[in-house]
Parts: sequence; structure tokens; C-alpha cells
Amino acid sequence: MFKKILIANRGEIALRIQRACREMGIRAVVVYSEADREAKYVKLADEAVCIGPAPSAQSYLSMPAIIAAAEVTDAEAIHPGYGFLSENANFAERVEKSGFAFIGPTPESIRLMGDKVSAKAAMVEAGVPTVPGVPGALPEDSKEIVRIARQIGYPVIIKAAGGGGGRGMRVVHTEAALINAVQTTRAEAGAAFGNPSVYMEKFLENPRHIEIQVLADTHGNAVWLGERDCSMQRRHQKIIEEAPAPGIPRKVIEKVGERCAAACKKIGYRGAGTFEFLFENGEFFFIEMNTRVQVEHPVTELVTGIDIVQQQIRIAAGETLSVTQKQVPLRGHSIECRINAEDPYTFMPSPGRITMWHPPGGPGVRVDSHAYTNYMVPPNYDSMIGKIIVHGDTREQALARMRSALSETLVEGISTNIPLHRELMADAAFVEGGTSIHYLEGWMERRK
Ligand code: ADP
Repeated sequence: MFKKILIANRGEIALRIQRACREMGIRAVVVYSEADREAKYVKLADEAVCIGPAPSAQSYLSMPAIIAAAEVTDAEAIHPGYGFLSENANFAERVEKSGFAFIGPTPESIRLMGDKVSAKAAMVEAGVPTVPGVPGALPEDSKEIVRIARQIGYPVIIKAAGGGGGRGMRVVHTEAALINAVQTTRAEAGAAFGNPSVYMEKFLENPRHIEIQVLADTHGNAVWLGERDCSMQRRHQKIIEEAPAPGIPRKVIEKVGERCAAACKKIGYRGAGTFEFLFENGEFFFIEMNTRVQVEHPVTELVTGIDIVQQQIRIAAGETLSVTQKQVPLRGHSIECRINAEDPYTFMPSPGRITMWHPPGGPGVRVDSHAYTNYMVPPNYDSMIGKIIVHGDTREQALARMRSALSETLVEGISTNIPLHRELMADAAFVEGGTSIHYLEGWMERRK
């Protein structure tokens, strides 16, 4: 096992990885920007290295600064967390070439999944169900594009092969709008992702977002750890996640889960990963794979009892998976609310000093957050300041625990989205379960 790991991230996930290291008896090196100097996890770290000024481009996205920090501290491995450099194949490659273990998949896997056209092709080959469409990138020829759209049937969605974060997508309802939409998306994709390649698939009107968590080792073993329902989203940003997904027959989920595990073996995947699907009319359609730990990983940890971050570390150290598919338990129900420093209804970011932080507690309540009283939320990064995660024997109990946890939580000095979560936990359709990815935006409209 590694003796020392460098955590190339910040905020709650840096603390989460630090906790995993402590439990495993591994020393953790934290890197930080000047804006995060005061963070408690930095002060409590075994070792901490300042890697640059506040802007991410000069700190958390600076490959030379991070690799130099690993060199001077004699770390053996680098955990990238999520966001920042976590899905950058060039970074993974540079980490490995510099002699460190990258706690994540191979650069080849990251590259394969980072291009949505090649990812989709790999899934088709591995027998994972994908959104109906035409394989490959769209050709230049307008007549051919029109023919492809007719074949798929309107509405269609034009997506950038290199897209991410909900950007580089355009829905097209009529043939009249098609060519213009393709050209605009191409131009945007070229400018934003350095890759003008786009592809087309059927636009699903009212799907749910269901994803499958996987773990694969370097000895040819792969398991899937159940699913998460992340349909509660605004502008493609998830805010509530839960496991298991309410109302979907286990048989249907098992079938797709097994396909995902098989796909991992087929592509030689290593580490933790997530297969994201749209789910509509009882069917799963693959949209993309995330090759990193996800924000919402705790709901899976609570229903399976498996520590996903520790598993990532064990896999990177070359250990064989300690669980087989039969041994993956699914117990009870878990819900996560992402706590953001923002206005609950306008979503305007609300950075600043937290004058009072009182997190909830009690049976089945977990809080993953780096915040504390007097913590200064910097304006430079993502607005998420933590997550409240609950577990119960049933979904009803989990809901009751989340309501109680949210009512106990006190954050003063900045605005947070806690009032929004309180309303959603009492919303009849959410309580019923199974709302679509458009539900929250419709709800916000009706609330006005
Ligand atoms: P990103 O990498 O930018 O997150 P995804 O491929 O995961 O892109 O898609 C993001 C979101 O866009 C999905 O969660 C869904 O809301 C919407 N979306 C993507 N493809 C489709 C589709 N074929 N039909 C309907 N909605 C889609």
C-alpha cells in the first residue's frame, strides 16, 4: 500500500480523500491555492503545499505545480478528486510518466470516454444500450445530415463529441432549423472544447437520469454497486441524488448493471467509474461515462457499505477487488442534498464569510463538508460547500431523516439552497418518487 498520497483537489472532496487516507494509515499531502490557505483541512493536513494564486488555471489546473508538489513531498500517488484535472488524459499521462500512480483509470480509458463519439461506439460494441442515433460524428454534407435526422426522427439533439458540463448541446424540432443548429454547435464546440466534431441522437422528451457505479481492478475483475437516481437537476446540474432509484424493477436495473460491469472488463477499465443513462418508458439509454469519483458517491456508500474512495486507492495500489458481485449488499435507502452557497431561488452565487455553521447529526446522518464557523467561501470556485447524506431502512425513513437534518442545519452569513431542499423534501411528486430531469425547472416556473 502507498505510504503517501497527494490530493490534487480542494473543498469537501479534498477532505473526503484525506479522511480515507487517515483511516488507511496513509499520509496525505494537500495542495492549496492562496484562496484556500485558511481551510481547516489544509491546516490539519500531514503536509500542505501552496501551488499558486486563487485562479484555478494557475493552481488546481496547473499540472507542473501539482507534479512538483508531489516530487518535493515524496508522494507515491496522486488522487485527482472530481472536476479540475480528474478527467484530463494528458494529466494522467504526465503523472504516470513522472513516476507516480494515478488514482483513476488509464489515460487511454479517459481519452476513450472523454470523446462521446468514441465512448458511444465502445458501448455499442460492449452491448450497453445507447440513445438511438447514427454511429459516428456527423459528416459535412448537408443532404446527408438531413437524411440522418429523418432516419432518427425529430426531435433530435446535436451534441459536441468533446462536450461536458451540460454545454455544447442543441435540440432540434424541425428540419428547417437543422443545418443552422449543426453549424452553430460545431462552431461553439470548436471554440469551447477545441474539437468541432458533433454527433446526433434522438432527443428523449421526459427521461429520468439514472447512473450505475462501477469498480474495476487491474486483474480483470469488475463489479457494479447499484444505481443512483440524479434526476433532480437545474441546467444539467444535479442537486439531489438517491439510491436506489424509486419504482424501477430490480430485474431491469440488474440487466443494465451487468452490462456495465462487462463493458469495464471489455475495455480494460480500472478504478471507479459511472455509466450515466437516461431512463424512459422502462428502458435505459447510455449518454456518457464519468471516469472519476462523483460528487454523489456517498449515497452508494451508504446503501452498500463500500468505501468507494478507499477502493480507488486499493485498486491503484494493485490490489484485487475485495468484493464479488454476489457480495455487494443493497441495504435501505439513501438521499443526498448538495448544499450550495447561492440564493435558493435565483441561484446567484453567495460567497463570503460563514458566521455560523451548525451541521445536523443523529442516526443515519452524514455530512461531507469542509465548512465551519468563520470559514470564508472563496468566490473563485464551485459554489458547493458540502453535502448532507442520510440513510434509512426505507425511502420514507430516509426522507424523514433528511427533513429533520435540514431543519437542524444552520448556516449564517451567506445564502444557501437549504430552503429549496426543505421545500423539495415536502413536495408531493418528489415524495412519490420518479420525477423526470425537467421536473425542477417546471417546479421553479410554477413557484414564481
Ligand atoms: P455533459 O457531459 O455535458 O453532462 P451529457 O451527455 O451527460 O453531457 O448530457 C447532459 C444532459 O443533457 C443530460 O443529463 C440530459 O439532461 C441532456 N441530454 C443529453 N442527451 C440527451 C438526449 N438524447 N435526449 C434528451 N436529453 C439529453
